[in-house]
Amino acid sequence: MSGGQEDSVDGCGSPERGDGMNRSVFAERMGALAGESAFQVLAAANALEAKGKKVIHFEIGEPDFPTQPHIVEAAKRALDQNCTGYCNAQGLVPLREAIVEHEKEFKGLHTTREQVVVTPGGKPIIYYTICVLVNPGDEVIYPNPGFPTYESVICYAGGVPVPAVLKEEKAFRLDIDELKALITPKTKLLILNSPSNPTGSFLTGAELAEIAAAVRGRDMYVLSDEIYSRIVYEGKATSIATVPGMKDKTIVLDGFSKTYCMTGWRLGYGIMREDIAEQVTRLLINSNSCTTHFVQLAGIEALKGPQDAVDEMVAEYRRRREAVVAGLNSMQGVTCRKPDGAFYAFPSVRGTGCKSAELAQRLLEDAGVALLNGGTFGAAGEGYLRLSYATAMPLIREGMERMDAALRRL
Ligand code: PLP
Repeated sequence: MSGGQEDSVDGCGSPERGDGMNRSVFAERMGALAGESAFQVLAAANALEAKGKKVIHFEIGEPDFPTQPHIVEAAKRALDQNCTGYCNAQGLVPLREAIVEHEKEFKGLHTTREQVVVTPGGKPIIYYTICVLVNPGDEVIYPNPGFPTYESVICYAGGVPVPAVLKEEKAFRLDIDELKALITPKTKLLILNSPSNPTGSFLTGAELAEIAAAVRGRDMYVLSDEIYSRIVYEGKATSIATVPGMKDKTIVLDGFSKTYCMTGWRLGYGIMREDIAEQVTRLLINSNSCTTHFVQLAGIEALKGPQDAVDEMVAEYRRRREAVVAGLNSMQGVTCRKPDGAFYAFPSVRGTGCKSAELAQRLLEDAGVALLNGGTFGAAGEGYLRLSYATAMPLIREGMERMDAALRRL
């Protein structure tokens, strides 16, 4: 796998990292770790902006709404009270208790504070879970196209990445028969992401029950990435951990970044069996010590305070979804299905005759539209683009116009 993600990346590789001498500067495992295209394209877009070019940002998966003032005020109060030191490594007890209540209310998941680990963002839960559970040679099934960190960390840990391909003709849903065929005695972990980045699909309760039936009775676990659980347009997202027999086999990932517009605060959490929580906390102590104290206090306010801003944000995303999907479908060579959750459109651009990597590059450089090549989410994302519509409506309209004009010029 290459360090950059401009090429499609499946399977673990080890690029040349030599320094011209016998021994490489970098540890071999670094060859398995990829970057994240969203951050790479953001840097390229910022460089264009620094030269005076106006860029419309569809690349980064970050809400454009500010953190709610009552959450900011809670952090300020905590700072005034000097909550600036080390604190409980697993997470403040009142925050873990608030998470237990929140999971019960929104997902019907019954858990305990001992099963919750608070982390600096949701992402560390991916890293910690894989490091805690996966031995070299163990197989890990993960969605493709999917969040690039999954494959990257599987490879870093020496695991064998086994892609479960999400196909557009199946509305990017996990094909349960195909999944069953991928499970072998070597499978240690299945990663689910619902609602999904980048496809916007989400798994129904019936699908989760079928997946659970395939997993139960096997010596394997599920990492259920539910970071977009509150951003759904029809129905309600649910967790596989609520399916009978699955709580002890599931590590739930969720957090504050997307739901409460707190990406930069770095606050997330995992829910898992107590013995797994102990191991994850041990890794956390060895890497981060703890999650920032005053940020955790702001997190309590986010969970316990008014929730109307979340509903209003989702209502606005729903309006933007209509505009983006209609805009994309009106473009030459582009087709786009309506996402069911999260805030990403994942249009096919096969009809343009251009490779998605080349098209993404040209749209940035020629039209000032920053978006991602679907191939950076795995080989099955080749031929697609990913657009985040966590961007204000006037900018979405301008972006659509610029894209349309650029595609006409192809
Ligand atoms: N999981 C998925 C599917 C994501 O898209 C993201 C962020 O983009 C994360 C996890 C990480 O979220 P956080 O910012 O809380 O670390």
